[in-house]
Amino acid sequence: MTSSVKVDHLSVSYHGEMALDNITFEAPTQELIGIIGPNGAGKSTLIKAIMGMVPKNQGDIKVFDQSVSKMRQKIAYVPQRSMIDFDFPVLVEDVVVMGRYPHLKWWQRPSKKDRDKALECLEQVGMEDFRRRQIGELSGGQQQRVFIARALAQESDLLFLDEPFAGIDLSSEQIIINLLRKIRNQGKTLFVVHHDLSKVEEYFDSLMLLNQRLVGFGAQEDVFKPQLISEAYNGNIATLHSEDGDGQMVVVK
Ligand code: ADP
Ligand code: MG
Repeated sequence: MTSSVKVDHLSVSYHGEMALDNITFEAPTQELIGIIGPNGAGKSTLIKAIMGMVPKNQGDIKVFDQSVSKMRQKIAYVPQRSMIDFDFPVLVEDVVVMGRYPHLKWWQRPSKKDRDKALECLEQVGMEDFRRRQIGELSGGQQQRVFIARALAQESDLLFLDEPFAGIDLSSEQIIINLLRKIRNQGKTLFVVHHDLSKVEEYFDSLMLLNQRLVGFGAQEDVFKPQLISEAYNGNIATLHSEDGDGQMVVVK
């Protein structure tokens, strides 16, 4: 298998306003792939379009060389945190068991096997002790780990995580990136929407720069270049130099 996601001439608009303009790329498998770009660049829209959650104006999308409708159950999606209602009273273990639902027919109830699988996935993210807690009681980082456990329970080969590091502390971020690496090393492909330029080189194998159109896509070291980053961020980039002369790109707006 050569590509995880293949997108051909994809355009999406909301009420006549263009959100994604003629996007074409072919992504590798078994990598951690970063999606970078300013607010409103269409990062979340791209994920939703690939998942078939928003209608497209034009374009063709293949996941592991198949149509998305066939592969949907093989794709896990962790939405942006602001899109999840954490006041909804649901136990941590039930959030994870929900990841098994694609495997269930509508008349079936989660079996002991599904519950055992959910627990095993909670163990993998180190959250088994929280399984009887309400999801809303957990910290942001803990919630992200639970949603990653749900994605693991789904046994998907392709995962989309929309800003998993937004609003969480550094030690949780470290735990989560290590988890994502472990998942990648198991042979899965992960797309991660990310906004902190300082971590891009450390975290990602491949990189996508998005600003309504595709500014760049390829191996991280080929794409993470000042000129391309600046283009993706409409020039709102500064380079900070430390005393030893190392440069660090930051978004200034
Ligand atoms: P990002 O995730 O990169 O911040 P989005 O994909 O959320 O960007 O949004 C891209 C553009 O589409 C923005 O201009 C946003 O306002 C618009 N948009 C996103 N979702 C909707 C929607 N449901 N209805 C109308 N416009 C939307
Ligand atoms: Mg977004």
